[in-house]
Amino acid sequence: MRYLTSRETFAALFREICDVVIPRGCAGCDRPDETLCDECRLRFSQCLVRSIPGIDRGVFSAGRYGAETRRAILQWKDHGDEEVTADMCDIICRCVRDSGLASRLHVGGNGSGRIVVVPVPSTPASLHRRGRRHVLPLAKAIRTMLRNGGVAADVDQILSIAGRLGKSVQQSGVAGRLGRLEGHIRVCGRPPDDGGVVLVDDIITTGSTMRQCVRALREHGIPVVAAYTLASVTRRAVSRP
Ligand SMILES: [Zn+2]
Repeated sequence: MRYLTSRETFAALFREICDVVIPRGCAGCDRPDETLCDECRLRFSQCLVRSIPGIDRGVFSAGRYGAETRRAILQWKDHGDEEVTADMCDIICRCVRDSGLASRLHVGGNGSGRIVVVPVPSTPASLHRRGRRHVLPLAKAIRTMLRNGGVAADVDQILSIAGRLGKSVQQSGVAGRLGRLEGHIRVCGRPPDDGGVVLVDDIITTGSTMRQCVRALREHGIPVVAAYTLASVTRRAVSRP
């Protein structure tokens, strides 16, 4: 066991004092004393839908990717603000509820099969940098909500990104990103015997990552029922379900 140096002890103490003396701000707008204020929460309550071939009911997003929603998501996923995880779980569950998924599964006759909630995978480099699978709690929250609604649901991380990827997303554009991920998203582990998959991710931009996930799943004969994200970056028309 390694003992902390006096400098490390002081730094830890200083952080704790800061947490007590300086109240935290909203992850979206920095309003004091909130993990996510009501206004920012409202920005995540739109339940927008866009269609992607191969996703039965479409991709539902809780909000548009704007200044506050962007900041909240980045604070949560890349700056270690894990206090916001519970808010993000509430937001994605509200979106699932507003999309009518549970009742649709009952009516649509998909009730015999089970739903597997699958997080869209991060690259190995992103996983290493964050030190956590930030989308996994969202998938678990959706599973719990579906189960509470009488749907047989599980979470399974059956998708992964294999190998080394090329240049960053920003540099490569839509076509480049499709090519960059081409063949890298794989189904690993055991796919569901029946039923279908619900995909979940933090943000959808061009939709190319989602398309690659759908392609990989369909190659294994796995249907994708719907997909959910916290925010959507889009200039195209999106509508409410
Ligand atoms: Zn706020």
